[in-house]
Amino acid sequence: MPDLAAVATALSSLKTATDIAKFLRETDLSLERAELKLKLADLIGALADTKIELVEVQEALVDKDRRIKELEAAFESKDTLVREYDAFYAVGEGGKPIGVAYCLRCWEGEHKKRQLVEDHKDFRIRVCAACGHRYDNNRTQDHPVPTNSAQ
Ligand SMILES: [Zn+2]
Repeated sequence: MPDLAAVATALSSLKTATDIAKFLRETDLSLERAELKLKLADLIGALADTKIELVEVQEALVDKDRRIKELEAAFESKDTLVREYDAFYAVGEGGKPIGVAYCLRCWEGEHKKRQLVEDHKDFRIRVCAACGHRYDNNRTQDHPVPTNSAQ
């Protein structure tokens, strides 16, 4: 888990900074001015490292929040899709597939609804624009959406 490693590194840098600050507090004032400056430079360096590492942790948390939102959205719509041959569809009356075909691979792999488009060179093939997977057009036909549908 790279995120947990980033947290551990940040905590380690923070401990270094704390140790230097404690050393400075506990050392009597006879400390040489040059040595004091050196210790302060170390302290600032350790704090700067901590800051950089915390930014990485923050970015990782933002990524995780985004991924959780995607998964929640996929989870909510999971029951509304039905598989037929090589594609997934919205569910119409009686559980029948309706509407456009969604990429089987993207839905099963990433829980993302991605519409298939016809290959401009071969009308027998449909392609997912996201993952590039190619499907037989006969096994990924779009279905008409009934006009009386509540969609
Ligand atoms: Zn795909």
